[in-house]
Amino acid sequence: MRFCDICGRQAVTTEYCVVDGRKMEVFLCEKCLSTAERNHLSTADLIATIKNTEGKYCPVCGTTEKTFLETFRFGCSSCYEYMRETALLSAEKVQDSTTHTGKAPRK
Ligand SMILES: [Zn+2]
Ligand SMILES: [Zn+2]
Repeated sequence: MRFCDICGRQAVTTEYCVVDGRKMEVFLCEKCLSTAERNHLSTADLIATIKNTEGKYCPVCGTTEKTFLETFRFGCSSCYEYMRETALLSAEKVQDSTTHTGKAPRK
């Protein structure tokens, strides 16, 4: 079984593309495939997306940084190990906004 290169769900299709003279395979799940089609993204665009998230996802459960930032929930106990930096940065952001809200003048 192959897994979607973008979100880690079960892949339903394989796209091929040549990047920098190298043939690349991109596995896509149903959801990412339809997202790509809807946004008219080429396979090269998808690879760029994947490269941007490279190293920022949990290979154990497939949760990506993007998913985490949307839900603030980890998929498994290993996620923190793989996305520690992201988790820390987002925690800082959350604290920041909390502080600002606290300092806002009362009405
Ligand atoms: Zn996907
Ligand atoms: Zn995980």
